[in-house]
Amino acid sequence: MIKVNQLNKSFGELHVLKNIDMTVYESDVVCLIGSSGSGKSTLLRCLNFLERKDSGSIIIEGKEVDPSNDDLNKIREKVGMVFQHFNLFPHKTVLENIIEAPVMVKGVDKKVATSKAKELLEKVGLEDKADVFPNKLSGGQKQRVAIARALAMEPDIMLFDEPTSALDPELVGEVLTTMKELANEGMTMVVVTHEMGFAREVADWIVYMNDGEIIERGDPEQFFEHPKEERTQEFLKTTM
Ligand code: ADP
Ligand code: MG
Repeated sequence: MIKVNQLNKSFGELHVLKNIDMTVYESDVVCLIGSSGSGKSTLLRCLNFLERKDSGSIIIEGKEVDPSNDDLNKIREKVGMVFQHFNLFPHKTVLENIIEAPVMVKGVDKKVATSKAKELLEKVGLEDKADVFPNKLSGGQKQRVAIARALAMEPDIMLFDEPTSALDPELVGEVLTTMKELANEGMTMVVVTHEMGFAREVADWIVYMNDGEIIERGDPEQFFEHPKEERTQEFLKTTM
């Protein structure tokens, strides 16, 4: 679904992504972990073309994306993204938030989009919140709406950038449950997270980044039980 070859990205003098190679197969859940500032968000943003790579290639569903010529909105339809700070439209209801992009960007009929939105709200357990404004929701509910909103575009791949980091601890579980359900349905997902329990339980692969490089990757069992690299071992000690 995604293949990244020798991806490099700098902000001025700061070399933030260094020769990143990564492959994500269909229905894989990849958890991207690493300390703050290691380049995780920048990598996700490159995958969604919110950030422009300096060199290397990004292949989405078998096709190399050329950001200067390809229609990036089309690609973003395939690759949905959920952010740490939900970014819901405050002046729109939950339902309006969810149908906005399908109707405005994809040209989906409003009735069709509305009925799909209601299905999605049911899926994330918020069917009774359709007509409520975001400021009446808890953080966990807002994030579940943000997930429903991303799903409304019917993406093939979902990127999550620390979706639970801004939440009070007691609200983390409901969002992780929603993500787990999505994973079980076979969604292809790349998840930046500090939730090691989630990573261990749900991920097919763990990728550990430090200072712009992928240091180590492995399946959860191998990664958490027998990390090979010293830097991984040090990092894991800080998360225990
Ligand atoms: P992470 O998500 O792992 O915490 P980021 O990808 O956000 O890391 O950031 C990696 C590095 O790039 C950090 O040093 C950060 O300050 C820097 N950085 C991120 N975005 C920008 C930007 N738009 N302009 C300049 N520097 C940036
Ligand atoms: Mg980040």
